[in-house]
Amino acid sequence: MAEEVFRFADELGPEKILHIWEPRLGLKAIVVVDNTAAGPAIGGTRMAPDVSAEECFRLARAMTFKNAAAGLPHGGAKSVIFGDPSMPAPDKERRVRAFAAAIRRVEEYVPGPDMGTNETAMAWVKDEIGRCVGLPREVGGIPLDEIGATGLGLAVAAEAAQEFSGVRLEGARVAVQGFGAVGHHAARFLAARGARLVAASDSKGAVYDPKGLDIGELEALKARGGSLAQCGAAKKITAEDLIGVDCDIWIPAARPDVIREDNVDGLKARLVLQGANIPATPGAERRMHERGIHSIPDFIANAGGVIAASVEYHGGTEKIALDTIAEKIAANTRAVLDMARGRRILPREAAVVLARQRVERAMSLRRWQA
Ligand code: NAD
Repeated sequence: MAEEVFRFADELGPEKILHIWEPRLGLKAIVVVDNTAAGPAIGGTRMAPDVSAEECFRLARAMTFKNAAAGLPHGGAKSVIFGDPSMPAPDKERRVRAFAAAIRRVEEYVPGPDMGTNETAMAWVKDEIGRCVGLPREVGGIPLDEIGATGLGLAVAAEAAQEFSGVRLEGARVAVQGFGAVGHHAARFLAARGARLVAASDSKGAVYDPKGLDIGELEALKARGGSLAQCGAAKKITAEDLIGVDCDIWIPAARPDVIREDNVDGLKARLVLQGANIPATPGAERRMHERGIHSIPDFIANAGGVIAASVEYHGGTEKIALDTIAEKIAANTRAVLDMARGRRILPREAAVVLARQRVERAMSLRRWQA
C-alpha cells in the first residue's frame, strides 16, 4: 500500500496525500498537497464520480507549476470528492461541509472551486474552517468568472506576444472555441484592444462572420440560455470547421485535446491562446512550433483565475486583482517566449523550465535544505 502511494513521489513532491473516508455520510475524498515551498498551496476541489488519486496528484502538480509560473506566494495542491455533483443540494452541502471539517488541520492547503463545485460550495467551506478562495462577493470573494479574470489574462498574453508572434491586436481576427466564462470575456477584452471576433462556438454550434460578430449579441443570447447557433446574422459552420477558420488568433476555451495531430495543419491562425487546460496534444504543440505558430501554454495564459484567487486570499480588491493579472501575465508571457526563442525550445518547455526553477529556488530557501 505504501509503495502504491509513493509511486507519485519525485524531487518536488507530493508532500502529503490524505485519504478521507467518513462511512456515515459516504464521504470519500483525497487531498494531495504537492509542494508548499512558496507558501500555502492553492488548488481546486473537484467533485466527480470517477476521480482518482492519480488524477488528483497530476492536477496538484499542475497547480504547483501554474502558481510558481505566475509568481504567486503559493504552492500547489488539489482535492477530489467522489460523487455526482448534481446530487440533491442538501446532500452535497453535507458532504462538502464534512470534507471541509476533515481538512481543518491541513492548514497548508487552501481549497478553491473546480469542476463540480462553485462559489457556494466555497462559502460552506469557509463557514466550516475559515480557509478557502473563490468565495461569493457577499463573503469577501472576488467573483472570477463575473469579472473575467481568465479572459483578461488571455488578452494580456496576446498583447505581450505581439513582438514575438507578429500578430498585431489592432485589426486581428479572433476565433473562440467555447463561448463560456473564459471565451466570451477573452473576446471582449481582445475587442477592447482593437481585435474583432470572427468566429465562435459553444457545445451546440458555431458561427462565422469575416466582418465581425456582435459580441454583445452573442453574450445576450448565452445569458438567456440560448446557443450561438441561434444568432441570426452570422453564417453557421460546423464545430470541426472552426479550427480552419481564416483568422489570426485561435482560442481553445472548452475541452482538452481539441488541437491534435490530425487537425493541427488546418489551423490558419498564427497565435493560439490556451484558455482551456491541455487543449493541445504534445504532438500538436510540436507541429504548431514547426509551423511558426506561437502557442501560449495554458498554465501561463489562463492563470488569471488563480491570480485573482490569490489576491482574494491576501485581502486585495477586484481592482488589485485585475492589475495583478495584467502585470504578471504580461511579464510571464514575455519571459516564456523569450526563453523559447533563445533556447529554440517549445513555449511549453520554456514554461516548465521557468516554473521548475522557481519551485526549486523556493525549496532551496527552506530550513531543511542541506
Ligand atoms: P464554461 O462552462 O463557462 O464554458 C465552456 C463553454 O464551452 C460553454 O459555452 C460550452 O457550451 C462550450 N463547450 C463545451 N463543449 C464544447 C465543444 N465540444 N465545442 C465547443 N464549445 C464547447 O467553462 P469556463 O469556465 O469558460 O472554462 C473553459 C475551460 O477553461 C475549461 O477547460 C476550464 O478548465 C478552463 N479554465 C477555466 C478557468 C476559469 O477561470 N473559469 C481558469 C483556467 C482554466
